[in-house]
Amino acid sequence: MSVIAFIGVGNMGGPMAKNLLKAGHTVRAFDLSADLLANVASAGAAKAASVKDAVTGADVVVSMLPAGTHVRGVYLGDDGVLANARKDALLIDSSTIDIDSARAVHTAAEKAGFAFLDAPVSGGVGGAEAGTLTFMCGGSDATFAKAQPILEKMGKKVVLAGGAGAGQAAKICNNMLLAISMIGTCEAFALGEKLGLDPQKLFDIASTSSGQCWSLTTYCPVPGPVPTSPANREYAGGFATALMLKDLKLAQSAAQGAGAVTPLGAEAAQLYALFAANGHASLDFSAIIRMLRGEV
Ligand code: NAD
Repeated sequence: MSVIAFIGVGNMGGPMAKNLLKAGHTVRAFDLSADLLANVASAGAAKAASVKDAVTGADVVVSMLPAGTHVRGVYLGDDGVLANARKDALLIDSSTIDIDSARAVHTAAEKAGFAFLDAPVSGGVGGAEAGTLTFMCGGSDATFAKAQPILEKMGKKVVLAGGAGAGQAAKICNNMLLAISMIGTCEAFALGEKLGLDPQKLFDIASTSSGQCWSLTTYCPVPGPVPTSPANREYAGGFATALMLKDLKLAQSAAQGAGAVTPLGAEAAQLYALFAANGHASLDFSAIIRMLRGEV
């Protein structure tokens, strides 16, 4: 069993750290929020007073932070991970961040002699709690092999996507596709409603026809056909519009940097930005059907 420093124990990091504790690891947690630290301490984590305090002597460091700027700060500063962790410590960042920041931390970690993995997740808070996240990893084969047993305690699927930054690249490509398919699914239901189609009939037909996709069959944006989808609970919980918008902005910035043509990704980013600006950032991203219907 390892001593694991866990930096950032918010909505995702909190339950992930608890799953590492359940697996028998020793967890030393650090977060800027005293309340969140107290929450993981009640499950058995030791409270660290700083990043330095958490990582000194730890076997593994896992971070789950809001954005690239926080990850650079936590890893690269004088009081940060690279300056204070043991040289043989395994470093894993599971935050969803821009590829440039991920690669900058990879480069600095490698220069300092560390094994580092970018390992963003899919599966949301429910997946973090249940330990069923998907981890998309970027780094060397050797680092991935070391990280796999740790990540498997927090997720059910752990995939090596490629080298430095490939985990982040896979995450934003997937989420751009998800946003586009969700908007397409919402448009189909909004059109069907105007044409007098019963949503259940449209679902039954499209879900076994060429329009079939995850946004339709697992996450249907109208109540009824898929009882577990957020549409059945007024779009509360699920994957917040604000987080989808964050990922779409990362995808657009990456597309511009790489010279990729993503017109539907750009349009999806604009539509989610408008929906969020209208006051719906906290609703599940499938609620965008309400804007397409002209309801909100
Ligand atoms: P969150 O805001 O709940 O948690 C982030 C935590 O990091 C906060 O508790 C904050 O206090 C802490 N933090 C910030 N700067 C810090 C620092 N310098 N030192 C220590 N702690 C610091 O966010 P979240 O929902 O847990 O998301 C974390 C990451 O996971 C994000 O990158 C997000 O995009 C990604 N993600 C979230 C979801 C989701 O459904 N919430 C799903 C997939 C991926």
